Parts: sequence; C-alpha cells; structure tokens
Amino acid sequence: MVKLAEWRGKEVFRKYGLPLPRGSVARSPEEAESLVRSGRVPVPCVVKAQVLAGGRGKGGAVKFANSAEEARTAAASILGLDFKGEVVRELLLEEKLAISRELYVAIALDRAARLPILIASADGGVEIESVGDDRIDRQPVHPFPGLTSYERRRAAKALGLSGAPAKALEPLLDGLWKAFMAEDAELVEINPLAVVGDRLVALDAKVIIEDDAAFRHAEYAEIRDDRTPLEEIAREKEIAFVQLDGNIGVIANGAGLTMATLDVLKEFGGHPGVFLDLGGTDDPKKVTEAFLLMAQAKPTAVFLNIFGGVTKCDTVAKGLVEAMSQVPAADRFPLVARIRGNNEKEGIEILRAAGVTSVPSLKESAQAVVAAAGGRI
Ligand code: GDP
Ligand code: MN
Repeated sequence: MVKLAEWRGKEVFRKYGLPLPRGSVARSPEEAESLVRSGRVPVPCVVKAQVLAGGRGKGGAVKFANSAEEARTAAASILGLDFKGEVVRELLLEEKLAISRELYVAIALDRAARLPILIASADGGVEIESVGDDRIDRQPVHPFPGLTSYERRRAAKALGLSGAPAKALEPLLDGLWKAFMAEDAELVEINPLAVVGDRLVALDAKVIIEDDAAFRHAEYAEIRDDRTPLEEIAREKEIAFVQLDGNIGVIANGAGLTMATLDVLKEFGGHPGVFLDLGGTDDPKKVTEAFLLMAQAKPTAVFLNIFGGVTKCDTVAKGLVEAMSQVPAADRFPLVARIRGNNEKEGIEILRAAGVTSVPSLKESAQAVVAAAGGRI
C-alpha cells in the first residue's frame, strides 16, 4: 500500500484534470513566506501539514494565513509537530477559497463486491466513518463500461447538486475514475470536495496505490519511505516483517497466530519489538533468511511460536538451526521455541540437537521469553 501525501495525491489529480486550489509545497517557514511574497500562493491562504494521517483540520495541522508574515508563523508552528506519530516536514500552502458546501466523493476497491465502488455523501469535510450509513451513497462500478452517465447523475443527486456544480461533477468524476484505474489505486478520495460558487474544487486528496501494481509504477518507488530499512529488505524477499517499539522478536506463522502471540506476550508484561510471519512457506532457506533478518533487528530475546500446517515444524527447525549457525556469537539472543502441529516430533528433535528446548505450553513459553527479555520494560 503506497499512501500518497496530499500534495502528491493532488499532483495525480492534476494529471487527470481535476479542479484544485492554486498552491505549492514548502519545507521551511522562510519558503512558506516567500511563496506568498512572490504571489505563487495568493492570500488568504491555507497552510496544511503534509502527513499521512487524517483529521489534520481538527488536530491543528491546518492553519489559515492572511499575509506572508502570517504564513511564515503558521508554517513555523506546524513544521516539526509530531502529528499522530509522524513528524511534519512538508507543508502545502494553497489559496483559501470561499466554500459554500463541503462534500465527499471517493472511488474505492470494494473487495467484497470485487468491484470499484463510487462513494458520495453530501456530508463532506468530516471523517466519512462518522457519517451515517443512510447519508452515504455507494454504487458499484463495473470496470468494463467504466463510470456511466447514470452513476454520475445518481452521485450528483446524492450530493444534492444541481445546475452548474452538477454539470461540473461529470468531468470531475470521469477524471477521478481515470485516475483510479490508470494509477492502479485502491482509493482515490476527495474530502472535502468544496462547492465554491458555481465550481467544484478538490480541497483534499487521498490516494492509495495498490501494492501489487507497484511494478507498473516505478514513479512511486521513491515514496515507499514508510518502511524501515529492514522492512524494505523483507519486502524484497517477500517476508512479512514489521518493526515495533519493544525488545522481543516474534516469529510465528499466519497473521492470526502472529497477532495472537503479540497479545499473549503483552498479557505477560512483554514488549514485542519486531514480528515476522513465516506464512505458508515450506522452504527451510526462507526460514533461515527470515531468522537472519530478525537477528539484524537485535531483539533482546526471540519467541518462535509455530503451528505446523503447510509450514511443517521440521522445516522451521532446520531453517532455524541453519540460521543460528550463521548469526555471529556477539549477536546471539535467548530463544524460546514452541512448535506444535505437523511433523512436531521431528522438529522438536532437530531443535533439541541444537540445544533449543520446545516448550509446549503457550503460557509457559510466553512467560519464559518475557523473563529472558528482562521482564517488563
Ligand atoms: P483533513 O482534516 O486532514 O482531512 O484535512 P483537509 O484537507 O480535509 O482540511 C480540513 C478542513 O480545512 C476542511 O474540511 C475545510 O473545512 C478546511 N479547509 C481546507 N482548505 C480550505 C479552504 O481553502 N477554505 C476554507 N474555508 N476552508 C478550508
Ligand atoms: Mn480531508
């Protein structure tokens, strides 16, 4: 999933002819000031934090300015803020428009319907999750004919538009549809879509590009900066690997068991720091690679919790023993293993030969690894 910052999303929108406010990106208060001074951004203007989390309006990350001086002050107060865990490093400055209404439109991939879906609500400007279901119009759109005039008209009606803005909605939705399809998006969202006189203007842009289409969009490769370097390596090797804040490494298989293992560790006062989902691999080499990656994350202790299905216990044990022989002595860490299921006996035997005991009880194994990691931190 590549989630684009608002300004990048708007660049995508621009490519497909969507109506946008005039604006520009700034990375320092001085730059913000000079954008206004040079007239590249007219005043009054809006100064918006470029972070991926929503709710900036409510969270103080969107400010207004009436002069170059005010733009600099607003920029200085937003840059460097920690907004929902993300430090603000970029701002978007845009002309402030006189809005008469705030609407919501989006095209998303509806995985249940297995179709794109056009979503429209007259209650824009707030998080769509807080809008009543009866106030949201959803229409599946078949990708072969694309967006039809019927769907566009129904959306206009749901948005309560008539006359010139309703007319303006047609090319806007066509552009949005094109953007969704051509960019392989899983979401293109405009919230709010503002009614400004007779015009419609996209005040915000949320664009999420489908990961599986990454190979078709080299242009987004550089934006994948939400991963840590190790997560990036893991992605290339197709290993599900996520780094958190704690100190215990977790290796499990299947998303369900992996998540449950994190919960159990927390329950016993542990602090999971990195987790790795072996998924359904039955290749010991893959297990070795995954384990070596885990070692690079320098966990204090590692909990291996495997339920052998497609991934057999002996496969994991072999891969693990091989990896342990490759980890430099200085980087070794206590390992608690719990392997159950397919080829359990063989797996336990391989581990025992390498000096690792498999603890059958979930409770005992979890407590053992928490203790090995130094208890509660
Ligand atoms: P979000 O809260 O992170 O989704 O950020 P938005 O881009 O949606 O901005 C939040 C709110 O700021 C919008 O809902 C508007 O009410 C307000 N806003 C943004 N741009 C303008 C503008 O040009 N004029 C006016 N009057 N309000 C704006
Ligand atoms: Mn918004």
